[in-house]
Amino acid sequence: LKDLASMVVRELELRKVALTDPLTGAFNRRMFEKLGAKEMSRANRQGQPFCFAMLDLDRFKQVNDDLGHDVGDAVLMHVAQLCQETLRTEDSLFRLGGEEFGVILGNTDIDAATEVIERLRRKVAAAMTTVRDKTVSVTLSAGISVSGPADRTIDEIVRRADVALYQAKDIGRNSVKVYQ
Ligand code: GH3
Ligand code: MG
Ligand code: MG
Repeated sequence: LKDLASMVVRELELRKVALTDPLTGAFNRRMFEKLGAKEMSRANRQGQPFCFAMLDLDRFKQVNDDLGHDVGDAVLMHVAQLCQETLRTEDSLFRLGGEEFGVILGNTDIDAATEVIERLRRKVAAAMTTVRDKTVSVTLSAGISVSGPADRTIDEIVRRADVALYQAKDIGRNSVKVYQ
């Protein structure tokens, strides 16, 4: 029985490793494909939209160049932690690229999603990350899109969030934009 229990624990650990990003603990791209497809079919079935937010750290290359890659990594970890603290239980956080995160806001309309992501933006902007003797502060920009009945894959929703993210960068960064 003890062997069985440890086999189950081991299996759960392996699954977690397969679906999360080791640096930040956020879900990885593979999990995004899985949960994204699940959320799409739920939204279509129930006729209730969900939102997607694409987050990208501002001028992050500069952080690495000025302070080193290890400090950059610590900032990424800290930002992911701030996200997990701020997001609700119905939201899922994914690391989709180097300094890019995606959030699926389940069963959420655009106003509620904007409120959540705006709160997150403010929290990150106000935070400081301390690594050894160095203290650094970063901001993020975000683009938000909402699922619609015509969407066939989550890629279309991601593409719209990306468009909004570029607008957020364009107007000076440290801002949240909804796809129009
Ligand atoms: P922008 O405001 O336009 O997003 O500027 P940016 O510098 O953040 O954008 P860019 O895409 O030019 O650079 C992203 C940088 O993020 C490149 C790389 O130095 C850094 N980066 C990506 N992944 C990691 C990582 O895993 N660890 C660390 N430390 N840095 C990373
Ligand atoms: Mg980027
Ligand atoms: Mg960036």
